[in-house]
Amino acid sequence: MRVEMEFLGSGTSSGIPTIGCDCWVCNSSNPRNKRLRSSVLFRLGVGDDERRLLVDVTPDIRIQALRAGLSSVHGVLITHTHADHCHGLDDLRGLYWGGGRVPIPLWAYPEALAQLRRTFAYIFDADYDYKGIVKLEPQVFEHQLFEAAGVRVQPIPVVHGNMRVAGFRIGECAYITDTNEVPDTSIELLKGVRLLILDALRRAPHPTHMSLPKALETAEKIGVERVFFTHINHDLEHESINNELPDWARLGYDRLKVAIEEDGRISVTEPESNGPSPIAF
Ligand SMILES: [Zn+2]
Ligand SMILES: [Zn+2]
Ligand SMILES: [Zn+2]
Repeated sequence: MRVEMEFLGSGTSSGIPTIGCDCWVCNSSNPRNKRLRSSVLFRLGVGDDERRLLVDVTPDIRIQALRAGLSSVHGVLITHTHADHCHGLDDLRGLYWGGGRVPIPLWAYPEALAQLRRTFAYIFDADYDYKGIVKLEPQVFEHQLFEAAGVRVQPIPVVHGNMRVAGFRIGECAYITDTNEVPDTSIELLKGVRLLILDALRRAPHPTHMSLPKALETAEKIGVERVFFTHINHDLEHESINNELPDWARLGYDRLKVAIEEDGRISVTEPESNGPSPIAF
């Protein structure tokens, strides 16, 4: 089965450009230095059989969905509940309407679902008397492989400061954001992954995210063929950093699509432009 990961966003929690910052990356006119909050869309299979799983619901989800031409999803996977990964939950209603008002299945760790229920109490309140909100079908996972909308998903627990975050492996692809450490038990779960998207915040070490050197080392330890980095801050200028990286590693950027094709080939599809955006940057 063809597995594609589309970068809906590749930026750190503030997004790039960052409000109030006058640095050269935030001022760059290169669209690849403009990063909405980190999220990917998994597309599994092709044509009418395509299944779409959205990973995280960022505060930028509306723009991300519009520019990706996305009007419905078959499910949502939540990595963790930091605001940059789930505070777009209300705007999922657009994808709920686009999906014919069928409740959207949403998978999360139990503690993450409990947090979502607190933050978005009205969305989970069956008695809430307002028709204009998203309807979800919440489900939890732990360490076992589970099926999401007919797709087999392996959760990959990783460390993010004092909390656990879920990475997701589908076939030979994996997406891991927001981590400072991938434990050895999770490295084992990632053996056989050929195409990886991994957190790399900046050059210098950070208590809750991977530095670029550590991310490279982690990707090597797993033994992937290609790695693309995400959750990038304004320390990393797209072109100059890419020139320093080995040819199997690259910074990801918004709207880039990477896939393992049916014949096993890894494909990389660059966007033709940065696409229609209601934000004029
Ligand atoms: Zn984050
Ligand atoms: Zn900046
Ligand atoms: Zn986080």
